[in-house]
Amino acid sequence: MKEIVVWSGGADSTCILNRLAKKSSKQNPVSVYVITTNGDVIKQKKELEARTQLLKEFKKRGYHIQKRNIDLNGYSIAKNQPITWLCGLMPYLQTYEDCNIHFGYIYEDSFWHMREHFVNAFYSLFKMSLTQVKYELFFDLEWTHKNEVLAELKNAKLLHLIWTCEPPTKTERACGKCDKCKELRENK
Ligand SMILES: [Zn+2]
Repeated sequence: MKEIVVWSGGADSTCILNRLAKKSSKQNPVSVYVITTNGDVIKQKKELEARTQLLKEFKKRGYHIQKRNIDLNGYSIAKNQPITWLCGLMPYLQTYEDCNIHFGYIYEDSFWHMREHFVNAFYSLFKMSLTQVKYELFFDLEWTHKNEVLAELKNAKLLHLIWTCEPPTKTERACGKCDKCKELRENK
């Protein structure tokens, strides 16, 4: 069974990746799918740097992770992250191996309002691929709150490596004012 994490490099998906990566081995690496879309150039640069640092750290810890980039830059799909992710993932799903696919939505996310549609759309689209393999969707953090995610990352000594600021400054620093910066400050 292959484990796939849809990974942004932010706190929530990194928390799941860390849990799964601990159980990884050379024979059974965890896959991360990184979906990038057009947006703030500095923010993208900082997120990329954070992912690179995290992967370096995971490697140092002896974890086995395979990364796949899905670049949706230039494609206008939807102003809605779950829909964009769903569309981005579909063409890249492997059809020769059973997979568990993990999403880092947490208790506070608005995703739950569209969960049913998302799951239905996923399985309907996947059925069209006429494959015999099984895919199962996991929302590991459904009942987990942001402060718990941040505490887990802090415990794992990973919190300082993530990038969450939404509108970084021109000098590539965290703004210190957005909700994500506030969350981090409160849980440092
Ligand atoms: Zn900020």
